[in-house]
Amino acid sequence: MEKTEICLGIESTAHTFGVSLVTGRGEILSDERSVYKPPPGRGIHPRESAQHHAQQAAPTLKEAFRKAGVKPSQIDAVAFSQGPGLGPCLRTGATVARALALYLKVPLVPVHHAIGHIELAALKTGAVDPLVVLVSGGHTSIVAFSAGRWRVFGETEDITLGNLLDAFAREAGLPSPGGPMVERLAGEGKRFVELPLTVKGNDVSYSGLLTYTVKLLREGVHRLEDLCFSLQEVAFSALAEAAERALAFLEKKELLLAGGVAANRTLQKKLRIVAREHGARFLVVPREYSGDCGAQIAWTGILAYRCGVQVSVERSQVKPRWRLDSVPIPWRR
Ligand code: ATP
Repeated sequence: MEKTEICLGIESTAHTFGVSLVTGRGEILSDERSVYKPPPGRGIHPRESAQHHAQQAAPTLKEAFRKAGVKPSQIDAVAFSQGPGLGPCLRTGATVARALALYLKVPLVPVHHAIGHIELAALKTGAVDPLVVLVSGGHTSIVAFSAGRWRVFGETEDITLGNLLDAFAREAGLPSPGGPMVERLAGEGKRFVELPLTVKGNDVSYSGLLTYTVKLLREGVHRLEDLCFSLQEVAFSALAEAAERALAFLEKKELLLAGGVAANRTLQKKLRIVAREHGARFLVVPREYSGDCGAQIAWTGILAYRCGVQVSVERSQVKPRWRLDSVPIPWRR
């Protein structure tokens, strides 16, 4: 078989320290993850998560090489999440990536974490030119590619969808991550509780919804299952409405759901209906690659490396607040 590049990708934006080895043909040779879990009722503490990453870096790297059956000398590039994310966590991953790139004398490739979610989702689903609904703990964006960049056609005006579900779950004393727990309880919900839905043009807003649902939770009048069910219904309907507007306007033929919250089946169902009504193919990233992982960084690293994107160690500072529509994408036409 023809020789191809191998990129090592390091993910460390928040809760996950991930290492993956991916080839230029898009084969994921290994994808190792170690996840920091805060105690129930608490959110991620950036310093504690960074300490977790520092402790787990060596064993995770070792396992990724072992599973891939690849030697460090076979690596062509080292890619890392340069941002956005939690500063201490990003810096830990970047330090590991710099050390490896220097030692192996290979290019250091900076990757935008959210673009990593999109590119891995596109690789895994075969999406070519989709409208993307990206939903995670750090992002709630409706984006499409145009004139060299992923352009934002809609987004949250305050907290993200992942944040909404996690913060509500924390209030309810559920373990982290909250999204899957809310989904499970929502399945046992029987009664819809009226909650405020806010869509402003193509944007959504979730902070009022969170405040109101937490207030109802504290009052203790409704079953938790009913609140979870209603919270999902309202939050996902708002997003579906915004996505539908963007789809109708852009007339894209693919609707791609990506990011950690993409694993949610109720959300998938709502967006599948939107896609069908507009004659678009509905695509969703496979569950095992929906959350943060090294593969999203390694694969996007390959695409960027092929276009000559790299950064010197001196200029490789992390970017905790990096917007995805500010990143040039030379590998897409
Ligand atoms: P980003 O990727 O933007 O930096 P992140 O690090 O939080 O954010 P992910 O790992 O992609 O990102 O997503 C985690 C989020 O996905 C959490 O908010 C989690 O609760 C949510 N999530 C995971 N599974 C589900 C599910 N089945 N239903 C709803 N939410 C889910």
